[in-house]
Amino acid sequence: MLYTCGHKIPDSDSIVSAIAMAYLQNALGTEAKACRQGELNPESKYILDKFNLEAPELKTSFAGCDIFLTDYNNYTEAPDDLKEANIIGIVDHHKLGGLMTSAPLDCWIRAVGCTNTIVKEMFDYYEIAIPKDIAGAMMCAILSDTVIFKSPTCTKIDTKIAKELAKIAGIEDFKAVGLEMFKVKSAVDGVPVRELVKRDFKNFDMAGNKVGIGQLEVVDLSIFDNIKDDLIADIKALKEEDGYDTVLLILTDIMAMGSQILVATSSKEIVEKAWDIKVENDQFWLKGCLSRKKQVIPFLEPAYTK
Ligand code: MN
Ligand code: MN
Repeated sequence: MLYTCGHKIPDSDSIVSAIAMAYLQNALGTEAKACRQGELNPESKYILDKFNLEAPELKTSFAGCDIFLTDYNNYTEAPDDLKEANIIGIVDHHKLGGLMTSAPLDCWIRAVGCTNTIVKEMFDYYEIAIPKDIAGAMMCAILSDTVIFKSPTCTKIDTKIAKELAKIAGIEDFKAVGLEMFKVKSAVDGVPVRELVKRDFKNFDMAGNKVGIGQLEVVDLSIFDNIKDDLIADIKALKEEDGYDTVLLILTDIMAMGSQILVATSSKEIVEKAWDIKVENDQFWLKGCLSRKKQVIPFLEPAYTK
């Protein structure tokens, strides 16, 4: 059995790419099963409901198993026992993260906006038809990862492939579907603050310092007005609890095209140097910032090493 599985704290790209990859592998004659390493976020639930897809099975241990990684290629986001698993393949769109394998593997890594874009190219390469429901979910994953094509990570290939997937799924107004999805994502009422902080959270090692960066993408930042102080208090608490040097929470306004970044750090001067800004009241505004991958990490990481 081959397990297809996305990263820890799965997002919609990780969930849907695992499902699509399992389908593709089965179609190619390898018995495969889609897995996930954690709970579904509200957006992923919405996508699975919309297209009547079953959630991947929760599985966190892969020792002795064959695994196909989707949407990541580093040990930090991998199952803890990945070194004891047999990595059959990787499909991903992130920078290389230092994985080692014991055998040659099927590696599909490209600098595009979403893993599902590459998975679609794999279906085309192998000449396998994508079922309507899976195509619709893949399209939504692309809209999510590229922030409806607005993110600087979005390429022409993502846009082209999202349109092809929309056609297969029979969806005409795919931008409306994207906006509806981001409205679901924007629901924060009554959700515990720690859950919001950890909803889309990634850990990094920056020159030996533990750094955690969460991101919430919404259609209107004003929904955070009443809870911003609580969010700041919570990232400060999280920093102490888990020994972080810095915890950032990126509050992205996808309509205003920018992010309010909340900061808990022992290295304020490093954060300020990274973007040449001033952190006031534990926060700062970053105009044009939509992407953690392209507009946050590549600035903060060098500030730690210099
Ligand atoms: Mn992801
Ligand atoms: Mn992704």
